[in-house]
Amino acid sequence: MFLPKMYQKSIYEIPYPKLKEKGIRCLVFDLDNTLRLLEEKSPNPKTKKLIKTLQQDFKVLLLSNSVSKEVLAYREDLGIEGIGSARKPSTKGLKEIATQYHLKNSEMAMIGDQLVTDVLAGNRFGAYTIYVDPLGKKDLKITYFNRFIERRIINHYQRKGKFKRGEYYES
Ligand SMILES: [Mg+2]
Repeated sequence: MFLPKMYQKSIYEIPYPKLKEKGIRCLVFDLDNTLRLLEEKSPNPKTKKLIKTLQQDFKVLLLSNSVSKEVLAYREDLGIEGIGSARKPSTKGLKEIATQYHLKNSEMAMIGDQLVTDVLAGNRFGAYTIYVDPLGKKDLKITYFNRFIERRIINHYQRKGKFKRGEYYES
C-alpha cells in the first residue's frame, strides 16, 4: 500500500510524456515539499513554468491537507484549481476530483513527498502514484512523526531491492 508506482528525485524529473502514453489525464500534486518549500509564499518561476507546460497536456490540480489563506493565495498565483482540506490518506479529495472532472481512477496520478499521506491515499484510490523526495528538510511539526515511519517503510522495501529512484512499479 505504501509502494509508489514511480519514484523520482523531484517533480522536474518525472517523465510526463510517458504518463500521457499510459492514459493519465490528470495530475494531482501535493503542495508542501512537493511543489514548494514550506517557506515559499508564492510560486517561483521554475514551478510556474512547469505547471503551465503541463497544463497543455493534463488537467493539473492541487490536493493539500492545508486550507490556509496562504495556500489559497499560492494556488491562485500558480493558476491551478484544487481541493483544500484533503485529509490524506483519506481518498475523499481524490474522489471529489474524479466526480467533478469525470475522471476514472486510472486516469489520475497522485504526486507527493509523503508515503503515509500522498502515496497511501493514491494507492487506496487506485490512482497512479508518484513519490518524490521532499524539496526541503523543513517540515510541518505534524510531519516529523510521518517521516520517522516513512524512513522505516523505505528501508524495508530497499532491503528487498525495491524503491529505487527512477524505477517503475506496476503493482
Ligand atoms: Mg508534502
